[in-house]
Amino acid sequence: MRDPRYDILFEPQAIGPLVAKNRFYQVPHCNGAGYRDPSAAAAMRGIKAEGGWGVIFTEQTEMHHTSEITPFIELRLWEDQDIPALRKMSDAMKTHGALAGIQLAYSGINGPNFYTKEVPLAVSAGPIRTFTNDPVQARALDKTDIRNLRRWFVNAAKRSKLAGFDLICLYGAHGFGIFQHFLSRATNQRGDEYGGSLENRSRFAREVVADMRDAVGDTMGITMRVSLDETIGEMGFSNAEVRDFIEMNRDLPDLWDLAHGAWEDCSGPSRFKEEAAQEQLVRGIRELSDKPVVGVGRFTSPDVMARMIRSGTLDFIGCARPSIADPFLPQKIEQGRIEDIRECIGCNICVTGDMTQSISRCTQNPTFMEEWRKGWHPEKMNAKGESQSVLVVGAGPAGLEAARALSLRGYDVALAEAGTALGGRVAKERLLPGLSAWGRVADYRAYQLSQRPNVQTYFNSALSAEDILGFGFQNVAIATGATWRADGVARMHVTPIPNSGMPVFTPDDLMAGRLPSGKVVVFDDDHYYMGGVLAELCAQKGCDVTLVTPSAYVSDWTLNTLEQGAIHRRLVAAGVKIVLNQGIAALTSSGVSTSCVYTGAASEIGCDAVVMVASRISNDGLFLDLQARAADWADAGIRSVKVIGDACAPGPIAWATYAGHRYARELDMPDIGDALPFRREVTALAVD
Ligand code: ADP
Ligand code: SF4
Repeated sequence: MRDPRYDILFEPQAIGPLVAKNRFYQVPHCNGAGYRDPSAAAAMRGIKAEGGWGVIFTEQTEMHHTSEITPFIELRLWEDQDIPALRKMSDAMKTHGALAGIQLAYSGINGPNFYTKEVPLAVSAGPIRTFTNDPVQARALDKTDIRNLRRWFVNAAKRSKLAGFDLICLYGAHGFGIFQHFLSRATNQRGDEYGGSLENRSRFAREVVADMRDAVGDTMGITMRVSLDETIGEMGFSNAEVRDFIEMNRDLPDLWDLAHGAWEDCSGPSRFKEEAAQEQLVRGIRELSDKPVVGVGRFTSPDVMARMIRSGTLDFIGCARPSIADPFLPQKIEQGRIEDIRECIGCNICVTGDMTQSISRCTQNPTFMEEWRKGWHPEKMNAKGESQSVLVVGAGPAGLEAARALSLRGYDVALAEAGTALGGRVAKERLLPGLSAWGRVADYRAYQLSQRPNVQTYFNSALSAEDILGFGFQNVAIATGATWRADGVARMHVTPIPNSGMPVFTPDDLMAGRLPSGKVVVFDDDHYYMGGVLAELCAQKGCDVTLVTPSAYVSDWTLNTLEQGAIHRRLVAAGVKIVLNQGIAALTSSGVSTSCVYTGAASEIGCDAVVMVASRISNDGLFLDLQARAADWADAGIRSVKVIGDACAPGPIAWATYAGHRYARELDMPDIGDALPFRREVTALAVD
């Protein structure tokens, strides 16, 4: 059972008039579902309750219609109509004794109001500050507006209570909530009693908390989420000023919820931020107030968690991503099952659901956001179907997850891998600069497979169709991955780039240790992380690197994983020259001919080698060979052959773990024909 070193994590803690059963605190996090998919979001929170979290929060909830952060899909509490969906969520959160929290957000200078068409209201007038430079400005709140806003917060608090919540978090972090906008001199340039001194800039927070205490404080806990440092220099709300604010308002909320900087700073990927990265910024704040403190830091290690409590740094262990990757993290610590923790790899694929307004995914936990839509539970599989044996070919993320999940269903699984390691692409990518944590995708599954008596793993087993027909497995999953193309075919070029003698290296070459030297052009027409990572690798190895991309940004899809700025900064620091908005028209023996994506204007960059980061081709030869032998399947005892993961269609690692999991769930299930493979909610029609 539980290691006594971790007992401290399970001590009950008071938050205002309520008591949390332990110190595991799921801080607010988005999920791409929000008001559009309320049952999916509610079921996801319910799974966290089952997994043992003491406190569970919603994502940000827009508390009044004069401020919404379109196009992002969060929750809404604008009127009584919104209460039932939120009640469904709080009910799910409370099923196992957790406290249910709602985060109330008034977006102010962050809310463009595209949906409501209301004029945005902010602390000081100015352009809306979101990810997208919307051509909209906010007007400044006047005194009447401030009185109204206080009343709207009270209305939202009363509705939160009716919706069944125990805790209210007032959002003032990440640059997103109005409390931060009042506190920071960058967004508060008022000349009245709400601006100027810190005392004045704190006034609104004090007034709202006092109003809320009057309205609901006897039964609800009120927390305040502030950023540890706005990280924008002198004008911003600095760590020193945060400390002054907390000391000056020691007893203001029932708990201080400490986040960091902008969202990019707080949820930095593992490539740029270690576990407990905010420790120095948090340390000492707890002594400034009599109220408990929660902080985050992508905590997955119970030793680090216990240290944060023992050292007096935190009272609660705040987790968003670790709770997504493993909703059962507290229960696993409680049960002494540390090796079973599915550790977050810090890839921020979960964030991309919010950024793209689609329902979120998690690389490590393929059941995330499918708890209601598909009825998938992160720890329990459906019962085994009528067949017994499965051969999984390829031990990359897709094959490993398929084998793990199939073994839990009770199938006899053989996992055949051509190479000598588990992990496929992850075994190679984990060795690239900054990506070591990605190895957890393989490590978690390797350990799980080692614990299962019904899985046999075979290395050095590059199988052919003939081999497979000779084995007699009833089901075959082909998870043989994909290979990077050398010919440049991707988005800009749909046919190979002409090459009259330039040596070309692919990401697979570099990952196999075949590195270019001298002057190197990295051409990135993939736009996710690989181009930037390989430019960094080549620079580390002493090459003179120029990164050329047709995009306006380096690694532009990483805007969705909150790391694009950090990647650009790192490449500049590594001495990489960056050429944006340029495609490569041809490779010559002495360099590359580039062309401007807008004007077609040509220029030359001399180089000794090109690293081509284009697209990937599925390794589906084995699958096609087997299909060609379909007439022989019955004699061989084969009932099904499926291709999954990158071998089906290349994508990020999360797509592969999802494909592996889905294969395992659906094996032997009845054919659903043309029916939708998940549940969804459709807006109810109003009665006109
Ligand atoms: P995915 O992301 O879809 O899981 P990966 O490329 O990460 O794909 O992994 C594919 C794995 O399949 C690699 O480890 C590779 O060595 C293995 N593999 C490829 N072809 C065969 C084959 N014919 N027999 C066995 N293993 C194979
Ligand atoms: Fe962690 Fe990546 Fe899962 Fe997000 S998607 S919780 S960062 S493993």
